[in-house]
Amino acid sequence: MTGELFVIEDWWYPEQQTPGSTSLARYRCPACGYERLICSPTHRIDKGGTVTPSAVCAFPGCTFHKYIVLKGWPTPPMVDEDGS
Ligand SMILES: [Zn+2]
Repeated sequence: MTGELFVIEDWWYPEQQTPGSTSLARYRCPACGYERLICSPTHRIDKGGTVTPSAVCAFPGCTFHKYIVLKGWPTPPMVDEDGS
């Protein structure tokens, strides 16, 4: 079985931690735009940016439910790299 990965480009690091869990990343649902938070230990993100288990959008009426991969993880795509 080959799981299809939905590539998430619109994600960033959370600015603060959620009590009782560890916030790993935030992303915007590609279907509805609702902001979602990826927390440990509910979710984990491997070195390639793949999030497990699958991501479910909690926005009422949104049916987005896929395995996602964060493009560019661990470096958010919108961060300018300071050249050395
Ligand atoms: Zn959604």
